[in-house]
Amino acid sequence: MRIMDLNISFFNSGNIDASLWQKEGFNRWASQEFCKQVWYKCLPHIEEQSINVGSISEWDVIGIHVNGASKHMAGSLTKYFREKNPNVLIAVGGPEYFSMNNNLSDLSHFDAVFQGEAEESFTTWLSNVENKKNHSLHKSNKIIGKQMKHISNLPIPSYDDFPLQQYVRKGVYPMETTRGCINHCSFCDNARMWKTFRMKNCHRIRKELINLSSIGAGCISFCDTLLNPSAKRFGDFLNIISEFHFRWDGMIQAKYIDKNIAKTMYKSGCSHIFIGVESFTPSFLKHMNKEKPSINSESVIRILSENGINISIGIIVAAPPFQSDEEFENDLQILKRLAPFLRTIAVSPLCIPKGTPLWCKRNIYGLKGLESSQGWRFWYTNNRLQDLEIRLLRCKRMINQLQQDKINYSNFDEYIKNEMKEAGEFPEI
Ligand code: SF4
Repeated sequence: MRIMDLNISFFNSGNIDASLWQKEGFNRWASQEFCKQVWYKCLPHIEEQSINVGSISEWDVIGIHVNGASKHMAGSLTKYFREKNPNVLIAVGGPEYFSMNNNLSDLSHFDAVFQGEAEESFTTWLSNVENKKNHSLHKSNKIIGKQMKHISNLPIPSYDDFPLQQYVRKGVYPMETTRGCINHCSFCDNARMWKTFRMKNCHRIRKELINLSSIGAGCISFCDTLLNPSAKRFGDFLNIISEFHFRWDGMIQAKYIDKNIAKTMYKSGCSHIFIGVESFTPSFLKHMNKEKPSINSESVIRILSENGINISIGIIVAAPPFQSDEEFENDLQILKRLAPFLRTIAVSPLCIPKGTPLWCKRNIYGLKGLESSQGWRFWYTNNRLQDLEIRLLRCKRMINQLQQDKINYSNFDEYIKNEMKEAGEFPEI
């Protein structure tokens, strides 16, 4: 098996605008029209990468990792590879197909679509292909996926072929110790995606860290939703990671953190932490079912920062019926006080993905438009475009304040312009 990292190859090429890899670029990649325009710029890099892994006509299977922004690019790649090798089997998986809201007819050009977690099902499918068994067993619906109940027994990941030195954060190795989340925030579709919360045991975590150490890793970025689901678990994790000499970063909730824990985190190599705070205002947090995870955010940010750890946070901006003017102003004031302790802040308008608890309560809150495919972004109560504009302008106000307080932020005006344009073109339902 060989890896082709087309994403980094396109990014490093210099002939595609680098801002397309920032927040405002996501929706452009997700547009079919844009992908058609940019295809000719991508093609030389696809050809170059393909040569590196041998002749396409000899490939048996191609697996494409797809997220929302790359689904049209995956379609174009499939067409391109099939023209070169009509017999190749093409399988897709990744975030775009994770919870499978897609129309099945859109998937007809793939030989297999892996929904959800696929370590086991992909391996079984591949060995069926290799043994010339009936790999099209599931071809009637083409969707194959199986949740892993025990993640401690998964094979140790191989990082061979990933050009980690070319990434923006050079030589940082990703690692997971858990899947899912123990919380149930009302706007979040984590629970629907991962279904249950699972943890790798301490023995397994140590084994994985020993492997990373043996291949010369110096920095690890943990991709867990929360590294501290409980005080006991976080204590165990810190004990294990302290046995090594890594620098590490990851995401935590603002719970189970005090001065001693912050000191231990720093001593264990923790350099940067992201906390999905969302808001500092209890009444707004209540709508999001996030009062308990975020209630101590302000003091936790200070404690961590005072102990040498860089902090980034996520903040959500809404509008009525979830967030009053006073609640928004309160968040602005607290952010002003906290700015000296913060490295970066991700400010996002409230999105309501399909199937989340907030989406299910849409009638109670009087929300409209949520049934449409883009309703999670363009939901409203009264006037569709006006309501969206209020949310975006509040975000802009918050970002302007953060910029005055010397916190870097990429060009949000462009993002607002694109969101309003797309919402205007999107059919009203
Ligand atoms: S803590 Fe984060 S990942 Fe977990 S449910 Fe809440 S928003 Fe989702």
